[in-house]
Amino acid sequence: MAEGAVPRFWREIPQRYNLIGNQCDSCKKIYFPPRESCPYCRRKSIGKMKELRFSGKGKVVTYSIIHTAPENFEGQAPYPIAIIELEEGPKLTAQIVDCEINDVKIGMKVQSTFRKIQEDGYIGAIHYGYKFKPLEVKK
Ligand SMILES: [Zn+2]
Repeated sequence: MAEGAVPRFWREIPQRYNLIGNQCDSCKKIYFPPRESCPYCRRKSIGKMKELRFSGKGKVVTYSIIHTAPENFEGQAPYPIAIIELEEGPKLTAQIVDCEINDVKIGMKVQSTFRKIQEDGYIGAIHYGYKFKPLEVKK
């Protein structure tokens, strides 16, 4: 494994594992991924961004079914990719798992979960990240 790759990988983990964003102390706007400063009140808010850990709960705003998977994702297609609005407000794009593609619905409540995203065959590293699964399991 190349030196230098490990520190970068580990630095990414807190955000990828905990779904952490931040909030501007002045205007209370919430960001994901976290920002260095608030673009709305940049000057006032320098140094006043508070870390915020999201509940991981949200709802599907819109989605599409990916039929042609990018490299490293072959074998997973077709799979749903959704724009999810977190309870706290920010929107993000993520894959929906544990759900039949026909069961994905706009407005569906979802919960973040951490899953293997891809395996890097070259260095043998397994990358994890957030995905979302339905909050209410269909019986
Ligand atoms: Zn602000």
